[in-house]
Amino acid sequence: MPNATSAHFPFDNSYARLPDRFFTRQPPSPVTAPGLVAVNRALADRLGLTLPTDEAETARIFAGNTLPAGAAPLAQVYAGHQFGGWSPQLGDGRAVLLGEVVAPDGARFDIQLKGAGPTPYSRRGDGRAWLGPVLREYIVSEAMAALNIPTTRALAAVTTGDIVQRDGFLPGAVFTRVAASHIRVGTFQYFAARKDIEALQALSDHCIARHFPQAQGPADLLDAVIGAQARLIAQWMGVGFVHGVMNTDNMTISGETIDYGPCAFLDAYHPDTVFSSIDQFGRYAYANQPQIAVWNLAQLATALLTLIPDREAGIEMFTAAVNGFAARFDAEWHGVLRAKLGLGTAQPDDPALAFDLLARMADNGADFTRSFRALSGADPRQARDEFIDPTAFDAWFATWQDRLAQEGAGDAARRARMQAVNPARIARNHRVEQVIEAAVAGDLAPFETLMAALAHPFDEDPAHAAYADPPLDGEHVTRTFCGT
Ligand code: AMP
Ligand code: MG
Repeated sequence: MPNATSAHFPFDNSYARLPDRFFTRQPPSPVTAPGLVAVNRALADRLGLTLPTDEAETARIFAGNTLPAGAAPLAQVYAGHQFGGWSPQLGDGRAVLLGEVVAPDGARFDIQLKGAGPTPYSRRGDGRAWLGPVLREYIVSEAMAALNIPTTRALAAVTTGDIVQRDGFLPGAVFTRVAASHIRVGTFQYFAARKDIEALQALSDHCIARHFPQAQGPADLLDAVIGAQARLIAQWMGVGFVHGVMNTDNMTISGETIDYGPCAFLDAYHPDTVFSSIDQFGRYAYANQPQIAVWNLAQLATALLTLIPDREAGIEMFTAAVNGFAARFDAEWHGVLRAKLGLGTAQPDDPALAFDLLARMADNGADFTRSFRALSGADPRQARDEFIDPTAFDAWFATWQDRLAQEGAGDAARRARMQAVNPARIARNHRVEQVIEAAVAGDLAPFETLMAALAHPFDEDPAHAAYADPPLDGEHVTRTFCGT
């Protein structure tokens, strides 16, 4: 099947060297007419990839029609709790891991094609993706990277020339995802549920070597994952990100954000915001994300417990570790909020000051991103325009000014620090939807403009000023879909 290609990927496929029961070897299924939508050349350089100069050949690679030399394509198996309900076997149902590359600096990355055709784990699915979710993941994952938030990355998007049937007939597409690894909480759960201690030990060793080399064993690994997730969720919340489907199979061991399905950024701030059409009870609402992380990490702890010979002692130790999430998250979250408010020192009342602002924002329909960006500007009083009742802002503002007076740094330095953490532009949902609609109609210009607008989200950029704006009446997107 695969034609020769001039591409070079520096593969070293360590996951493929794990025991057979970790995966099924599975090549991507070729598509009819690969068409290049986007390729992230900066990321390709960072990974040490050599891509063909020819666009058609590049499209064939990212469609899965041509395999770069050294690829060892496979579908990973995992399990997971989806909306709290246990699924003993999931797995890559529409994704194929081409392999791992070792970048020039020694860092190791998975390269995965998503939408690459059926695998043994496809269940009733077709193994395919359509252009909408592919572009959504491309845009939002790269936006998160530009916001300095740990995330999987977008290397390429191609159309397939095939039609995918969902609610209607839609253009098929393949997304190329780059990740520190695709190992999930659900990967541990899969082997724990089978009492496969040998596999669990191998998985734990693999994750330690790959992600947390300082860890000495399963207890350290759990501790490291808890720390990474506490930090990640705080960072999400600091930019108003709602993941939308924090199932245990969608939570990485590495601490990277993964699986951009029904995710979205808040426009107006409200802690109860839910976008996902299938999240009927708000399980994965904005402010619920830390609690859900704890729930997921408790599942990881339960799986890792299988590796602890003294079960009683293990339960005590792991319970303490999981219970420790709350304090670790709070420390991260308070740090994020202090930075957003330009506070270089920590004082006991700082979290209350931040929460008071958030409560007033929620009551007043204030736009999350624009409010904090306005506070970072030369005239922070402009933030009051975001509030239905601006006097609700004024009362808070006076307290903040008093607090800032206790800071050593000058105003200009503080503003610069605030502008480096409070973005001007996020991947607003109505923009993402506009891009998808245009792309399905054959126009990629809005996609390219949006990518340019989001590449440097902390810089003032008059050319892309409109991308800082919230949706107009009639542009609000209140429901998002998994797009599977
Ligand atoms: P997700 O909601 O994207 O995390 O997917 C949940 C599970 O459903 C995973 O095991 C996916 O591989 C599988 N899945 C989602 N979409 C498809 C599809 N179109 N074909 C086959 N499997 C799918
Ligand atoms: Mg998933």
